[in-house]
Amino acid sequence: MNLNENLKQSAAKFPSNTAYTFLNQSITYAELDRMVDCVASGLSSAGIRKGDKIALVLGNCPEFITAYYGILRAGAVVVPINPVYTTGEISYILSNSQARAVITHASLEATILPLREKLEHLKMVIYTDSIKSEWTWERLIQKTEDNFESAFVDEDELAVILYTSGTTGKPKGAMLSHRNMASNAAAISLLGEVTEEDRMIAVLPVFHVFCISVCINVPITCGATIVMVPKFSPAEVFNTIRREKATLLAGVPTMFSYMLQVPEAEAEDFSSIRACFSGGASIPVELLQRFEEKFNVPILEGYGLSETAPVTAFNPLRGTRRPGSVGIDLPDVKNKVVDSNGIEVPRGEIGELIVKGPNVMMGYLGMPEATFDALKDGWFYTGDLARMDEEGYIYIVDRKKDMILVGGYNVYPREVEEVLYQHPAIVETAVIGIPDKEYGEIVKAFVVSTNESITMDDILHFCQDKLAKYKRPKKVEFMKELPKNSTGKILRRALRVEQVEIN
Ligand code: AMP
Repeated sequence: MNLNENLKQSAAKFPSNTAYTFLNQSITYAELDRMVDCVASGLSSAGIRKGDKIALVLGNCPEFITAYYGILRAGAVVVPINPVYTTGEISYILSNSQARAVITHASLEATILPLREKLEHLKMVIYTDSIKSEWTWERLIQKTEDNFESAFVDEDELAVILYTSGTTGKPKGAMLSHRNMASNAAAISLLGEVTEEDRMIAVLPVFHVFCISVCINVPITCGATIVMVPKFSPAEVFNTIRREKATLLAGVPTMFSYMLQVPEAEAEDFSSIRACFSGGASIPVELLQRFEEKFNVPILEGYGLSETAPVTAFNPLRGTRRPGSVGIDLPDVKNKVVDSNGIEVPRGEIGELIVKGPNVMMGYLGMPEATFDALKDGWFYTGDLARMDEEGYIYIVDRKKDMILVGGYNVYPREVEEVLYQHPAIVETAVIGIPDKEYGEIVKAFVVSTNESITMDDILHFCQDKLAKYKRPKKVEFMKELPKNSTGKILRRALRVEQVEIN
């Protein structure tokens, strides 16, 4: 249950397997292991000590993998940060985590450099791709100590701090130990039947836990190949699958939706892929089924959060997969649906999903109150509403805060969205509640459509015999695209901004 051991073992067992490919580069496990030693030793000779925090402000590139495992081997802690964040956002995270170093691209110099002066604890900025700066990647890895010995790190020690966007207030740093991350990678490998023969596409953003765990830790644990893709576009994914004969693809639902919309795409594009993993947001059943039919490949949906490293439930490759469900408990992980007093509700009823297991975070860095609210008796309160069927399959209903109250009745946006996705011309949709004088709130749908002549009445009519009256959208707004965060999740929060006036 230690990320450092996982890489060492794969390098010993599969030295000549390809560890990663990126565009036209590739390196073996033996080479990756050596590179990681160089990074760890370079960091150590530059004064980085066990427990120090090092931020990675990087887009999808192979240096993320070497830096991430190098930091861990030095006994330090990785703080991944979204490279599109502003100086202010990055400053907050660096300061909250007391990061001693940042590893970033030269193109981000203008964003990061002002922070070097401002933050006393920040001693080093290392550029992966600049030759002019004081600290470059080459200089770092050349500073290898002759008798470098990697730090001993216990499985319960801190490995990664993930900043979650948070719905209110400042982002919180979820502290994840080696055990949290390694246990999750082992469980996903088992349920996805990942072996050293697999080639996993890493097109999700590397700073997000979904990519770190599923697309990096899982392949490294199994001696499989990480096929790193710089940025998502359907064409880039199709080309990479063909070129690299990739076998596994992990994505968020919007990625699957974009790929499905490419008219010239065909099953042949996915011929080497044996399974796709979907997570991060619910995948509409309609989309899942259309995708599986067109590309002849199963999509295994899972569910998780940054705080649970991340996966807690998964539809396994073997056995029953239930479309619309995020699957069953991961091995050693327990999911439970509870009422507002923390008491388990009968099967089939809706309540808050709570989780216990080796993947549950240590707490939020420097935020004892938030930790106290989120963790009770070892159970993590997810803030998501769910129901569980008799066989333990979990259905995510919605975020607690996204529920709409129409004249006292609960409306779950997901239920309405699932119906809208059945409309052949609707490509993307999101539903929110908007203030209303009579009902308190009414349902409004935002719709992206392939058919320009479709009207609001068509959509209202379509919902008529599919949803109870109070659940039906009363308003529809057509958009060119929906606002999304950099992981591809639809931002309902951004849609709500304009909706303040009472109807
Ligand atoms: P993050 O911490 O950024 O990974 O976001 C976690 C949140 O994503 C969860 O609390 C859920 O609301 C949502 N989420 C993740 N996977 C799913 C899924 N398969 N179905 C529905 N919501 C999901």
